[in-house]
Amino acid sequence: MGLDRVVKPHIRSLEPYQPGKPIEELERELGIDDVIKLASNESPLGPSPRAVAALRSGLEGVHRYPDGASFELRRALARRLAVDEEQLVFGCGADELLELVAKTCLGPGDEAVHAWPSFAMYPIVVRGMGATPVAVPLDADLVHDLDAMRAAITERTRVVMLCNPNNPTGTSLGAEAFDAFVASLPEDLVLVVDEAYFEYRRREDFPDALTWLSRRPGTVVLRTFSKIYGLAGLRVGYGVADRELAGYLQRARHPFNVNRLAEVAALAALDDEDHARRSRDVNAAGAAYLTRELAGLGIEVWPTDANFVLARIGEGQSERLLREGIIVRPLGGFGMPEHVRISIGLPEENERLVKTLRRLREAGR
Ligand SMILES: *Cc1c(COP(=O)(O)O)cnc(C)c1O
Repeated sequence: MGLDRVVKPHIRSLEPYQPGKPIEELERELGIDDVIKLASNESPLGPSPRAVAALRSGLEGVHRYPDGASFELRRALARRLAVDEEQLVFGCGADELLELVAKTCLGPGDEAVHAWPSFAMYPIVVRGMGATPVAVPLDADLVHDLDAMRAAITERTRVVMLCNPNNPTGTSLGAEAFDAFVASLPEDLVLVVDEAYFEYRRREDFPDALTWLSRRPGTVVLRTFSKIYGLAGLRVGYGVADRELAGYLQRARHPFNVNRLAEVAALAALDDEDHARRSRDVNAAGAAYLTRELAGLGIEVWPTDANFVLARIGEGQSERLLREGIIVRPLGGFGMPEHVRISIGLPEENERLVKTLRRLREAGR
C-alpha cells in the first residue's frame, strides 16, 4: 500500500480507543427497547435544565464563530476556583487537554510515565506524538504505586500523569501520599493531574491539587463538564495550570476548539449548583448501594471515589449482561478479563443490574 511510506509508524501502530457500545446498537441487535448503559461514566441525571435552556437560546447564534477566549466561562470558572483567568485553558473535552500537553511536551525519544490500568487515552496521546508511554502497574490494592512511578522517571521523562480518582478502578490517592510524590518530582517535567471525577470525591483527605500550581510550576490539573455536569456530548473540559504552562497550552490549541453551544451550556451548568449537588447525592447513594449489594452476591468490589465501581464479576459475565440488555465496560483490554467497570446509574438501573447479576449467578450454579 502506497500509504505505508507516508503514514508515520507511530500512527500506523496505534490501537484505536474502544468506546462503550451505543444503546441504540444493542437495542437493534436484541430487538428490545429498554437497554440500560452503565458503561461510559455519563451522568444518569442528564444535563442541568438550565444548561438545556441555554442551549435552546444559543441555537440562533450558531452562524457565529465561538468566543475563542471563552470569556464568560473563563471568568466564572476563575472565580469559582480562585485562580487567575490566564491559568485556564479550555478544550474539546479534557481529552483535548491531554493531547495539548502531548503536543506541547512530547516527541520521539521522550517518555511519559502513567499508571496502568488507568485512563486508556494516556498511551494513545503519547504514542500519537511518537513518544514512549511508560506504564507502571497499580499496587495490590489497585491504587497508583507512587514509589514505582517515581522510580520509573528517567532523564527522558517529560510528562507524568496521575489519574485521581483513577479510571477504571475508582480508587484514589490521599493528600499525604499525593503531596509527598509531587514534592519529590524533578522540576523539568510536566505533571498532569487528571481530576475528571473530582466533584464526586468522598474521602476526607482528598488532595488539593490546585495548591500545587503556585508551588510547582509545570503542573496542570484537568477537569471536565462531561461527568458530574452531564455534558459529555458537548465536549468541554479544561486545564488549570501556572501561567507559563497555560500560555504554552494556549498556543498549541486551535482558536475555536470549544464550540459556542458547549460554552453557553457549561456556563449555565456551572451556575446550577443544585443540579450538581443532586448528581453527587444520587451517585453517593448508588455507590453505597452497589458496593453493599455486589459484595452480598460474593462479588469483589473496590472502594470508589468516582461515579463508577470496579467489580470482579467473572470472565464472560459482561457478555451475559449484554444479552440481558445491560451494557457495562469489560476490562479485558487491561488484562482484567474477570473485572468490569460499572457506571453508577439511577436507583432503578442499579437495582436492575443487581437483580440480573443475582439471577445469572443463581442460574450459573
Ligand atoms: C472521562 C475522562 C476524561 C475526559 O473526558 P472528556 O469527556 O474528554 O472531558 C479524562 N480523564 C479521565 C480519567 C476520564 O475518565
